[in-house]
Amino acid sequence: MISIRDLNKIYPTQDGQPIQALSNVNLDIERGEFVTVVGPSGCGKTTLLKILAGILDNSSGSVLVNGTALRGPSRQLGVVFQEPLLLPWRTVLENVMVPVEIQRLDRTKSRKTAEQLLDLVGLDGFAEKYPKELSGGMQQRVGIARALVHDPDFLLMDEPFGALDAMTRDQMNLELLEIWAAKKKTILLITHSIAEAVFLADRVIVMSARPGRISETIDVDLPRPRTLQMINSDEFGAYVSRVREHFLADGAHP
Ligand code: ADP
Ligand code: MG
Repeated sequence: MISIRDLNKIYPTQDGQPIQALSNVNLDIERGEFVTVVGPSGCGKTTLLKILAGILDNSSGSVLVNGTALRGPSRQLGVVFQEPLLLPWRTVLENVMVPVEIQRLDRTKSRKTAEQLLDLVGLDGFAEKYPKELSGGMQQRVGIARALVHDPDFLLMDEPFGALDAMTRDQMNLELLEIWAAKKKTILLITHSIAEAVFLADRVIVMSARPGRISETIDVDLPRPRTLQMINSDEFGAYVSRVREHFLADGAHP
């Protein structure tokens, strides 16, 4: 599991007025959970994810991953950012293999895994294509396969579908739930969409405007597997309203 304790992040700035991006964030994520974090723009969501990804230092507090203090990027974590950040000169398969090279894993074995993951994300037949030959949704699927290729326990996702059109986004949400169920991963997904946060999650973490802190945790007891029809149900609407109330009380809209 991931255990976050009293996490603070203060950015120094040019004008000498430091920015407190995270304030005393405490969060435990259990194995197998799907947790979403929703909050207004600038509340520190990306900051939180970068710290968990091991690419940004925190100012104080601690992060434990499976009981061990996090120091730099961990092999137990896979990360998906809003932009898929694919290497344009590499094929789809070669892009998925990047973490294998960085972590010096067994190439032959990992290649099989990479091909299976491309099947899983609906890209069978695209292994030898180049990123520019793919749509935005397909590129993000490559990003997801790349994040899973070293078989991490946890998948961290920062607004992974934020740049996609609404229909593609719905489709990607359904696919992500299937991947989560099939691979038995633990997922922390950040979004500014309340509906997306509710649709995916076992638990929605609501963050307040700066300095970012957790203002509420809402358990989502909608049945699984989730379907797009559920979005029109009163129960779903009630969850969305509950989350929105927090933002209205806070004076900010995500
Ligand atoms: P979110 O992802 O929720 O939109 P961020 O984590 O990107 O928010 O940013 C949180 C706050 O920290 C914002 O006010 C942002 O301007 C500030 N911030 C982010 N990165 C830096 C940085 N490198 N230096 C200074 N301030 C930063
Ligand atoms: Mg962000």
